Amino acid sequence: MADVKKIAVIDGDGIGPEVVAEALKVMKKTEEIFGYRFETEHGLFGGIAIDEKGTPLPQETLEMCKKSDAVLLGAVGGPKWDNNSKELRPETGLLAIRKELGLFSNIRPAVIFDCLKDASTLKPEVLEGTDLIVVRELTGGIYFGEKFRREGANGLEAVDTCVYNVMEIERIARQAFEIAQTRSKRLASVDKANVLETSRLWRETVIRISADYPDVELEHILVDNCAMQLLRRPSSFDVIVTENMFGDILSDEAAMLTGSIGMLSSASLGEGAFGLYEPVHGSAPDIAGQGISNPIATVLSVALMFRLTFGYHDAAEAIERAVKEVLDAGHRTGDIAVDKSKAIGTTAMGDLIVAAIRKNPK
Ligand code: NAD
Repeated sequence: MADVKKIAVIDGDGIGPEVVAEALKVMKKTEEIFGYRFETEHGLFGGIAIDEKGTPLPQETLEMCKKSDAVLLGAVGGPKWDNNSKELRPETGLLAIRKELGLFSNIRPAVIFDCLKDASTLKPEVLEGTDLIVVRELTGGIYFGEKFRREGANGLEAVDTCVYNVMEIERIARQAFEIAQTRSKRLASVDKANVLETSRLWRETVIRISADYPDVELEHILVDNCAMQLLRRPSSFDVIVTENMFGDILSDEAAMLTGSIGMLSSASLGEGAFGLYEPVHGSAPDIAGQGISNPIATVLSVALMFRLTFGYHDAAEAIERAVKEVLDAGHRTGDIAVDKSKAIGTTAMGDLIVAAIRKNPK
């Protein structure tokens, strides 16, 4: 029998609890079918934690996460807390939890479901077969460098410094190579090595590390070219690895290829197998409590957790296949429905996915 995996569950705010509930149903079904075992514990985080505990990240929630093998997070935030002081904002909790858990990379898959090709702004024939992952370095680079203003010869100047060290580049490169090894074994490393010194160190380091992964084909691509190629030939990419700011921009661009924010999963990883998994979308306060949110992003985040943290590829595949099957059968939540009058609710979508999960494909 499989060992018990501990999962810290953070429902959060807005639609967070609704979408997490569906993801947990999916997880339970995989226990029944594949014999995996999960032990879940819920913790307060975000706006609800501010209301009940006076801080967005209570110590007990952090301890719970540190004791677990993976974290499943819904979403946090909402207008109720938007005007709070910085330390009493849900977003401050998000930055703190990533730092406290040592999460240095952010992984975002962008997969085109054939039946949703029309939801994208790109032509269906350009999108055909797109299935890529952006691996973004999360804790270094220009967002974390020294920032200051000064008086220059022409008046006020602002300075943002971009720093990367070899260790930071090596660890994210290894993670990306390892992810590529589980897929089509192609890695595109994105930089701006023609002008930036940090990018030249990035490229040198990635090349050196590539010697340990001879089965992965490595390509270097300048960030401006990558931004263009993602729109021109998205299906030619498999895994893309890049530094923090380039990754911030490119992962949003890649996300938009799919056309709907309700479909996008993500992972933040640290050393080892531990990871925090969450949908890319926020707490959607405009539709919270109505039972109409799309749970697929959170369900696919569970599949990502199974792959990246637990190596449960069979269960991950079964979940992804079930989602595809339900979509192919024409079921849609409001955000992805063409005919909104036929849209189904959050629970109905979850139930259909659960019912479609099976060990062996039809
Ligand atoms: P959002 O992603 O919450 O919503 C944007 C739009 O997409 C809304 O119209 C919403 O209804 C829709 N949408 C999002 N997810 C959906 C789903 N699963 N199903 C159907 N429709 C969905 O972004 P926002 O409105 O900019 O932010 C709302 C709050 O969420 C803010 O407080 C923001 O700070 C927070 N936020 C949190 C996270 C996170 O927890 N990681 C990420 C982004 C935003």
